Amino acid sequence: MLKAEIIAIGSELLTPYRSDTNSLWLTQRLNSVGIDVHQKTIVGDDEARMEDAVKSALSRSDVVISTGGLGPTEDDLTRKVFARVTGRQLLLDYAVLEEIRERFASRGYKMTPNNERQALVPAGATVLSNPNGSAPGVKMEHDGRLIVLLPGPPRENQPMFDTFVMPELERISRGVRLARRVLKVTGLGESHLDDLIAPIYTEYSNPVTTILFTDSEVEIHLTATSDSYSRAEELATELTDKLVEKLGYYVYTTTGELLEEVIGAGLRKREMTLATAESCTGGLVAERITRVPGSSDYFVGGMVTYSNDAKNSLLGVPKEMIEELGPVSGEVAEAMARGVRQRSGATVGISVTGVAGPGGGTDAVPVGTVYVGLADDVVSGNRRLVLGGDRHLIRWRASTAALEMVRRRYLV
Ligand code: AMP
Ligand code: MG
Repeated sequence: MLKAEIIAIGSELLTPYRSDTNSLWLTQRLNSVGIDVHQKTIVGDDEARMEDAVKSALSRSDVVISTGGLGPTEDDLTRKVFARVTGRQLLLDYAVLEEIRERFASRGYKMTPNNERQALVPAGATVLSNPNGSAPGVKMEHDGRLIVLLPGPPRENQPMFDTFVMPELERISRGVRLARRVLKVTGLGESHLDDLIAPIYTEYSNPVTTILFTDSEVEIHLTATSDSYSRAEELATELTDKLVEKLGYYVYTTTGELLEEVIGAGLRKREMTLATAESCTGGLVAERITRVPGSSDYFVGGMVTYSNDAKNSLLGVPKEMIEELGPVSGEVAEAMARGVRQRSGATVGISVTGVAGPGGGTDAVPVGTVYVGLADDVVSGNRRLVLGGDRHLIRWRASTAALEMVRRRYLV
């Protein structure tokens, strides 16, 4: 397997305020053509340390990709450092200069002299044009290694990489082909899950299985390698089928979709519509549903009813019910779901009411107690959960439980 290395350049990436997401995206792309990422470096805008990082990378990796530091300012040193390490001169590329000038002119700006710097290209390198920004990328070969310099912003470097670099990587990756599956599981505890599936996946060294625990779900990643796509796909499918057979409806996707995407597709297919009534999640369920493009096909709307009064006046939850049973109760959750369903005209109403903490818990209703409710034209029901974690996590897990209730009732 070819070995790749990524250098993320930018002093902001060494602060607590920005993280290097470029390398995650690039790694996914590189892996997809069978290239292994064996080292990543984050380096500030410092010439000596960058030089160090670039030299080391070139001493051990077949493919070296950097992001950032291609802009017009003094601290944008990437071109300069790579040119020096590879023993090339930086030459002004007039075609690139013209492109940058035109880009400025088309927006009614005059190009400032420092922007000329972006037209400096190491001798013998290929320029990768950038329709989404002014800094072009650079591609070059050095001692049989491939070097790619990409601009920092993801919206600039991603299309550039897919257009100019991926075809070349596919060609040089020596025929290693990968197939991947991402199984997502909700509603099963970590250790219970591993008990069920470890005897299955440990039988296979190919695909490689990785298990990731997220805030409210478990993801099982399978990566199969072979010298042909079809064989890699076969291997991935074989193990996927065995895992799904074991886990049944706890698996909601084998291709990595979000829970809200899976639910959305199911509702659309059944021509059903959904409305939400939320208390402790403050609109998070509605927010998650509407992350999915096209959710207007099935999502009618939602109400955030935080106070008891709002639950009564906006959703018609009887005052006496709230007083007698408390706002965090199964009956109130169901009444909220019925209320929003009726008022919105949706086929299904779902609701969440709970104590997200850190304050507000009692012996009877401790922090983490959440009721999710569901109502359609036939029934209404609720589920009680006692969720662990801090306020953020409890709210997130509660929103997942509400979504999961829809999946369990209609989609499995
Ligand atoms: P630069 O090309 O160094 O001027 O970077 C421009 C912008 O790209 C930065 O301000 C960041 O917003 C973004 N950026 C740079 N490097 C990364 C990275 N490794 N991951 C995500 N965003 C980045
Ligand atoms: Mg920078």
